[in-house]
Amino acid sequence: MTADVHAHTSYSDGSGIPLMVDAAEAAGLDAVGFADHCSLSEAWRDERLLWNRNFDRTHERRREALALAADRTDLTLYDAVEMDYEPGLEPAIEAFLDDADFDYALGSVHYVAGKQVFPFESFADASDAERRAFVDDYYDAVVSLVESELFDVLAHVDLVENHPALRGLTTDAHRERVAAACADSRTVPEINAGRAGDRGEFDLFHPTEPFLEAFRERGVRFVVGTDSHDPEDFGDRAPRLERYLAEAGIEPLPVEAVLGDSDGGFPPAAESGPSEAP
Ligand SMILES: [Zn+2]
Ligand SMILES: [Zn+2]
Repeated sequence: MTADVHAHTSYSDGSGIPLMVDAAEAAGLDAVGFADHCSLSEAWRDERLLWNRNFDRTHERRREALALAADRTDLTLYDAVEMDYEPGLEPAIEAFLDDADFDYALGSVHYVAGKQVFPFESFADASDAERRAFVDDYYDAVVSLVESELFDVLAHVDLVENHPALRGLTTDAHRERVAAACADSRTVPEINAGRAGDRGEFDLFHPTEPFLEAFRERGVRFVVGTDSHDPEDFGDRAPRLERYLAEAGIEPLPVEAVLGDSDGGFPPAAESGPSEAP
């Protein structure tokens, strides 16, 4: 694994750019894409303001910061986004992505039908039927996300499997629908090493095993993301992902596969020797 398509910075819920870049380099990566959370949701408008989740307003500043950071590292940095997908917001998302012109865009379903997947407590009082209905809604949204063709990457496809109250509710029908949608789409699913909740409680990668097989049966390929939020995540997750890919026999796609018309991020500054005499 040489390229990580999915990491965060302090422009959303991650750590400062210099710390993240140094840690990614120390973990042996050649390239890292910073995909900060971005939501255009009207429903969470006040919460977004209160918690400073305003990447829709601050992404240009981060772009300037990444250009500076690229001059101080041997890594190639990509200016990406992890966009919250919400059915009905497609026109707003499309206009925003066209205007912002990121290197690539990840699409994520973090909430659906007015309810967030996390935190863990969110389904404590829900009945079995309510949990199943939520998981159905979740996969409906994932299929719509893929069919929208708005995104280069589908992030953590079975996020609900990482929730103790929702785990095991993903069905063959869900997997078949999502895999079929991806097989017909430009949107590439991600192998994601992120874990929600307490560190160490889970050690699962998305997509979980039967889901991985549904994709592979259809010849769908993957990009790879650590979903690092803290500097130490890179050193923890990159080697585990590496082992996982080797054991599963997965050859990930290069980042170039999702760059589209982008000029390819911020390459490291050219090796500057002694300046030539005029
Ligand atoms: Zn996410
Ligand atoms: Zn993320």
